[in-house]
Amino acid sequence: MQRRTITILGATGSVGVSALDVIARHADNYRVFALTANASVELLAEQCARFEPDYAVIADAAQLGALKARIAASKTEALAGADALSRVASDRRCDTVLAGIVGAAGLTPTWSAVTAGKRVLLANKEALIMAGALFMREAERSGATLLPVDSEHNGVFQCLDRIERPWSAAVEKIVLTASGGPFLDAPPESLAQVTPEQAVAHPNWEMGAKISVDSATMMNKGLEVIEACWLFDLAPEQVEVVVHPQSVVHAMVVFRDGSVIAQMARPDMRVPIACALAWPERIDSGVGALDFSRGVELQLREVDEEKFPCLPLAYRALRAGETAVIALNAANEVAVAEFLTGRLRFDRIAEVVQATLDAVETRPVKTLEAVIAADTAARQRAREALSAGA
Ligand code: NDP
Repeated sequence: MQRRTITILGATGSVGVSALDVIARHADNYRVFALTANASVELLAEQCARFEPDYAVIADAAQLGALKARIAASKTEALAGADALSRVASDRRCDTVLAGIVGAAGLTPTWSAVTAGKRVLLANKEALIMAGALFMREAERSGATLLPVDSEHNGVFQCLDRIERPWSAAVEKIVLTASGGPFLDAPPESLAQVTPEQAVAHPNWEMGAKISVDSATMMNKGLEVIEACWLFDLAPEQVEVVVHPQSVVHAMVVFRDGSVIAQMARPDMRVPIACALAWPERIDSGVGALDFSRGVELQLREVDEEKFPCLPLAYRALRAGETAVIALNAANEVAVAEFLTGRLRFDRIAEVVQATLDAVETRPVKTLEAVIAADTAARQRAREALSAGA
């Protein structure tokens, strides 16, 4: 197996920690080049002591002194700020970048990795959602390989292995499964009282706070529909969502001949991370296989779109065009952050997104600068919607 040198953007997050767990099992195959965090100095320093990267980057420059002090005795060099994230993502000494930062903050460093033609393990779905057309075009130009880490997209990717491109010729549709989150069976009227602690307590997956709230509102599935359209070049009508509370089947591909291929695994992010790390080879993820001999329950059911309006809002934005999708993502980030600090009710997240979408002028965006400008404008609109009590 080819030895790879990897930068992990967002090393201290849920995806980053899972990736390092897999890498630690295959120390001969992976050398860690750089690890990055926003402000988690302690964990980043511990990871540096264990994985001995060349660089540790802290995005919050105010923490640079603390990081330097913590890793002074090691060979790792401490850097700070957004530019340093992009530098370690595009450095010619690394060949692979795991994009594991959460939210729009991951856009520019992930873009730098794609522009530099890296093998990009893509977890940071928001980057692709904001700038899907630009990313896909740039990957083609630079020769970057995009390997999906999001479990559903990684599942689709595995089902499409050995199918000739363009995939649209062979694929009738794809089906993404949704666990339904912690409130799948809660009465709709109870959603107004949901607390941040309840919303981040996902029944099947251990994830960061933002994606856990997105799963609880089902915006996560809406974002994944958009992500899937870009990654697999599909129309919105070719991407279906079904509720599957057990989170064992992650995705299915329905082919034009009537065959359906499903990807199944335990709900543990180390499975898709290991798949993307080693592709096209396979390595031990540390997770272990499903045990069918004990019986595995597989339920599939329809999404209740009235109870989870974020999903239809995502389809609406996708059909409307690029600035609408950017606005959907930006408004959602603003609203989720407000909810997590206890200033917005859970059931009002969708209202803020809808009010922002209602106000946005839809048009295509041609450059990364235009994407960032549309994102900034949408955040402003979302804040106005918040203060207007949308
Ligand atoms: P976490 O919140 O657990 O971790 C986020 C990481 O990004 C941390 O390392 C954090 O640093 C860093 N970060 C946060 N803000 C910034 C910033 N402004 N600048 C630089 N770095 C920053 O997120 P997850 O690991 O859960 O998710 C990461 C991405 O992967 C998301 O896009 C999510 O949608 C996607 N994903 C996650 C899955 C999961 O199971 N967790 C599954 C599928 C997709 P610090 O620790 O210092 O805050």
